[in-house]
Amino acid sequence: MSKFIIGLTGGIGSGKTTVTNIFAELGIDVIDADIVARLVVEPGSKALEEIEKHFGADFITLQGHLDRTKLRSRIFSSTTDKNWLNNLMHPIIRQTILQQITQAKSCYCILVAPLLLENNLNKLVNRVLVVDVDESTQVARTVARDPSSAEEVQRIIASQMPREQRLRLADDIIFNQDVDLETLRQKVLMLDHHYRSLSKSKSE
Ligand code: ATP
Repeated sequence: MSKFIIGLTGGIGSGKTTVTNIFAELGIDVIDADIVARLVVEPGSKALEEIEKHFGADFITLQGHLDRTKLRSRIFSSTTDKNWLNNLMHPIIRQTILQQITQAKSCYCILVAPLLLENNLNKLVNRVLVVDVDESTQVARTVARDPSSAEEVQRIIASQMPREQRLRLADDIIFNQDVDLETLRQKVLMLDHHYRSLSKSKSE
């Protein structure tokens, strides 16, 4: 039986984790693309070995982990290196996501990815759910949560897909602004109900 998969995305600080946690509390299996991206470069992995071969041993910490800060600054200053890394990582991440989807047990599952649309991961899912807030809310909530500055958050927003474009690609939208957490939970409950019935009709 093929799986019914919801791709959940949204800009930085929009509330993806908050919404995903509510789905998880309802018993829905969650595959997190960020966690997969870390998993595939763990010590001993093929990807880490390739990265070391390409960039050199000083991109690996003394404990054998990937030096993310160093790699981030390298690919920030070199498009060639950025493309090389993406070409290495994307197929491995995609493959691991597919494996995790196969193992999911709930009647539908969620694939959460900040760059679901930018990285074409939406090709793997049946529906796209966008968590949406305006830019000033993104900045306010992110600086309240993280030590980052408003400028840093704005830079990340600029590197992600523009809000209007993301909303155009959505099948479902959770507007997470001016709503308290209980109201947000009600919105998720309604969608969960909808997804359960869609997954049931798909499997019939
Ligand atoms: P990132 O892309 O940076 O990982 P995210 O999309 O996963 O962010 P969250 O971490 O879920 O976003 O939410 C950002 C912050 O906003 C968190 O501190 C969260 O608790 C808060 N938040 C989320 N939804 C609401 C809400 N409806 N009302 C108030 N605060 C909220």
